Amino acid sequence: MVVSNRLPQIEAPADEQEARVAPVGGLVVGLAVALTAPLDRREALWVGWSGRAADGTPANFARRSRVRGLDLAAFDLSQSEVRLFYNGFSNRTLWPLLHSFPAKMVVRHDYYRGYMRANRRFAEILMPMLQENDLVWVHDHHLMPLGRELRRLGWTGEMAWFLHTPVPPADVFGLLPWASELLESILDYDLVGVHTRRYAHNLFDSLSTEIPGMVIGDTFRHKGRSLTIRSHPIGTDYEGLRRMAEKIDRRAAERLVGVISEGHKFVLGVDRLDYTKGIIQRLRTFEYLLDRYPALRGNVSLIQISAPSRTRVPEYVEERQQVDQLVGRVNGKFAEADWTPIRYLYRSYPQEELVAFYRRADVCLVTPLRDGMNLVAKEFVAAQQATDPGVVVLSRFCGAADSMRDAILVNPYDIEATAAATYRALRLSRRERLRRWRSLNEDVRTRTAEAWSESFLQDLEGVSHDIRARAHTRD
Ligand code: UDP
Repeated sequence: MVVSNRLPQIEAPADEQEARVAPVGGLVVGLAVALTAPLDRREALWVGWSGRAADGTPANFARRSRVRGLDLAAFDLSQSEVRLFYNGFSNRTLWPLLHSFPAKMVVRHDYYRGYMRANRRFAEILMPMLQENDLVWVHDHHLMPLGRELRRLGWTGEMAWFLHTPVPPADVFGLLPWASELLESILDYDLVGVHTRRYAHNLFDSLSTEIPGMVIGDTFRHKGRSLTIRSHPIGTDYEGLRRMAEKIDRRAAERLVGVISEGHKFVLGVDRLDYTKGIIQRLRTFEYLLDRYPALRGNVSLIQISAPSRTRVPEYVEERQQVDQLVGRVNGKFAEADWTPIRYLYRSYPQEELVAFYRRADVCLVTPLRDGMNLVAKEFVAAQQATDPGVVVLSRFCGAADSMRDAILVNPYDIEATAAATYRALRLSRRERLRRWRSLNEDVRTRTAEAWSESFLQDLEGVSHDIRARAHTRD
């Protein structure tokens, strides 16, 4: 049983886009691929929020459906749960904290109480659906204490949690007033997964700082409990993306991306509109690039796709306004009648269309200030033409940088150096582009979403087996 806050198809409120939408985001995209892959030994039910805020008290009951080969079970949240648990504690407290933006962290006790209550309700809905021998796999920061709530209701089976965000250093984690309670709650899982060894290290460090316990190898021991923490980097649907990219013909690509004249270069950015993605810094980098290298004016443009995200959270409303203003200012400063430096697309695209942008771009700027993994970097690589690939400029501060060492790595806070790196990327020889792409492609081709879920679940089975064997010996 897979549990996450969001499902791959949600029923959004009538005033928010269409009635049924596919949310964008690495977790949903990665998990959907992993669970539709032929899991020869397993069947999966994916349970989560429908995306709908009920009027009054919502039923503690999940509606089952089958969507694109996935078994889903969805339930509604109340309006106050959406306000306190989702928009509040998950998006305004934990998200900025985990991404090392403590100045953006909102500390409110009603948010925390709402978060704990919602996790209890998730557990109450799940418990009757669980059967002996099920394996529970919980996802992301929204559901950190869900394991503890399930144990309270009597669940004794195997259970793991995967955190898709970064884990900040212990000093930053400790800024959360409820750090020790929340960290202690994860000890009820058998296995915790994160994307990189650095995040695992930070999590051990935070646990040791907040709770009296001991780190032995890759386990944390406290009051007879033993929690294993391991890194399992998520990947993409490599084959699926390559197929999609190969299917797009020139005409379809031109319809989406526009006609790009011979010799004109195009730089691409694709993100949810989120302050962690460094969109403001990226736009400033592009402005600096045009200032510093006037020969590029008229010959290079930036296409920035910003998928609407968390549109009711004040920090996101503010980010959107700042991005809008900056795009306007840079375009006003440089545009000519026949050339617009930044084409800004505040919308989301299905992946079948996104690959057209990936394939056509000369350079992809993947420059988050902090990001758990970042799948866009990997998708860009998967979608390239093997004979004439584009170049990835990648932030050091995302999980993907751990294995994508042949990207051009940058510190996105350093605008001048990132502009110089972009300039270099635009001028790389074909030979050098091929060399880098071949190495990146090997990484992306082998570390897929499917391999990620398979290795994590195998790990969980091994860890749980050891825990139960130890408990049995003690009995
Ligand atoms: N995405 C999409 N359409 C868009 C923009 C993004 O389908 O218009 C997808 C993108 O292909 C990727 C995911 O959203 O799979 C973003 O994941 P990532 O790990 O880069 O960041 P996250 O949004 O999870 O922070």
